[in-house]
Parts: sequence; structure tokens; C-alpha cells
Amino acid sequence: MVIPWHEVLVFFAALAVLFVVGDLLSTMLYHVPQHIWGKLHLRTHHDNTRSYWEHSIVSVDPAIVLDGFLGALPYLVLAAGLTRFGPAATAGALVGLALGQLHVMYRHTCELGWKSPAWLTRVARAIGLVLPEDHNGHHKNPDADFGDIFRFYDAPARAVIAAARTGARRQRRLQRLRAKRSHRGRTQHPAT
Ligand SMILES: [Zn+2]
Ligand SMILES: [Zn+2]
Repeated sequence: MVIPWHEVLVFFAALAVLFVVGDLLSTMLYHVPQHIWGKLHLRTHHDNTRSYWEHSIVSVDPAIVLDGFLGALPYLVLAAGLTRFGPAATAGALVGLALGQLHVMYRHTCELGWKSPAWLTRVARAIGLVLPEDHNGHHKNPDADFGDIFRFYDAPARAVIAAARTGARRQRRLQRLRAKRSHRGRTQHPAT
């Protein structure tokens, strides 16, 4: 059986969309909001008292599984959407999910002793791929190295977090000013 070339194209297009758009959605809709407002991800993924490998790959702790599931949800929804484009797109989305899961395991191998060879580091830098050393950086410093699969989501993620923190600080300052003003108003015109 010969597979038509356009089906092959659709397969690889679906695979690429799953990685590139899936990582964007997961980073911006789950990972970044968790770092700004959430607790679940910080309590689980950034719990430095546990082994990264254990808590990301083998743990069955419900909170840890939930954090992993919520991070994977954007990829799953996207894969379901890609199935509308036919069997080749469905196959691309499924292979993408499987490779994505393998990358989750791969990016947590630093503490098992993984060291990326120089050639792989060069290739990964050229295509923006997250290496275990990069993801290890995010475990060590939760304010750095965002992006599940691609490093190019790190800068926009950090920019959104910085903007949200600045906005929250401004809001708190305004609230303090308003509280001070109303306090002054009350002391200048004491109620009779
Ligand atoms: Zn991790
Ligand atoms: Zn994180």
C-alpha cells in the first residue's frame, strides 16, 4: 500500500501543531497562571523536598497526578480537535501525544545522571528544544526556563508573569493610598 504524499504532509503538520500550539496553550493557560495565582503546581512540581523523577513520572499522589493532567489537558483538547482533519491528522496527533509523554520522562532525567552530548545541545539550541538540563533549571528556579518542549516560550511566559506581578503591586499600592485617604478624611471630619 502506498500512502499518498499529502497524507504524509497532514500527519507531520498535525504532529507539529500538537507540539508547537500544545506547548503554547499549556504554558500560557496552565503553567503561567499557576505560577501567578495557583498553588497546586508550586506545591507539586516545585516541591524540592521530593525527587523530580519520582514526583513527575512515578508518583500516584493525587495532587501530583492532577497537576500533570491539567498540564496535559491543552494537548489532549488540541489532539481531539485535530482528529476532525481525518485519519492522517489523527495519527499525527496520537504520535505527538506519545512523543510528548516521552519528552516528559526525558526532561526529568537529569537527576538520573543524564548529560546531553555537545552535538545534541547544538541541535536542540537550533530548534529551540527543551533539554533535561533546561527543565532542571525550571525546577531549581521556578522563575526561569518555562516551556515544556520549546525554549521560545520562556521569554513570553516570564514577561506575562512580570506584568502580572507589576499589576498586582500597583493594585496594592492604590488600595493602600485609598485606605490612607479615607482614614485621613475620617480623622479630619470626625463623626459626631
Ligand atoms: Zn518538571
Ligand atoms: Zn513551573
